Amino acid sequence: MTGTMLLEARSLTKYYGDHLALDRLDLSVAAGEIICLLGANGAGKTTTLNLFLGFTEPSAGEALVDGRSVASDPAGARSKLGYVAEVVSLYPALTGAENLAFFAELAGKRVDMSERDAILSRLRFPLEQIDRASGGYSKGMRQKLGLAIALMKGAQAILLDEPLSGLDPAAANDLVTVLRETAASGTALLVSTHDIFRAKEVAHRIGIMRHGRLVDMVEPATLSAGELEQLYLTHMAERAA
Ligand code: ATP
Repeated sequence: MTGTMLLEARSLTKYYGDHLALDRLDLSVAAGEIICLLGANGAGKTTTLNLFLGFTEPSAGEALVDGRSVASDPAGARSKLGYVAEVVSLYPALTGAENLAFFAELAGKRVDMSERDAILSRLRFPLEQIDRASGGYSKGMRQKLGLAIALMKGAQAILLDEPLSGLDPAAANDLVTVLRETAASGTALLVSTHDIFRAKEVAHRIGIMRHGRLVDMVEPATLSAGELEQLYLTHMAERAA
């Protein structure tokens, strides 16, 4: 896929002490593209997201958001970036609307109600729930509110850590549709997941990670779900080089 590269990792490497958590990762995510990262626990997926976010510093290499280096221009890089954590942190006593306003203002944005409602509708968020306390929201609704916060902030690239875990099949199916529609409007999405089958449904490309290395990058449209699973299992069974 061609187009503007909104996320780029260039030989991105992270050691924790002697432990190599990420080994010379090269990766680009274009506008409109969804890449899923698959891999066993400890493969380096969260480390990758954390390096894009500037939560941790690389040992070598570089992470860029819309061409801005996370290391040398952290504020510039962050202004283009949204993050949806596995558990989206909201103030449970505040309504969805109040949470959105709070987090948008933290990012320096005033909430425009028509823009807000357009984003929520696009995300298929049940609008009648927006004035309820967020403590009662389902995981799927929390994820959507997290996405809405990112989009209201004007993020061009969004990182999602395990967004599909813990969703019932209908909610997961719905989120897949929402993510596809979000990307179709020009956002780049980088998603970590353990769910091979949903990854196949949602991603344009799937990166398979093992022991900190990106060992394969596949276009799921070219594989059946069974073939993708077999490929994943084959990589997981490989002996460390
Ligand atoms: P999971 O699917 O469990 O979230 P992951 O693919 O996201 O796994 P990471 O969390 O990126 O994997 O971890 C990669 C490696 O780095 C692991 O071996 C992990 O133990 C190690 N690691 C991660 N964070 C730290 C840290 N803050 N200090 C020390 N080691 C860490």
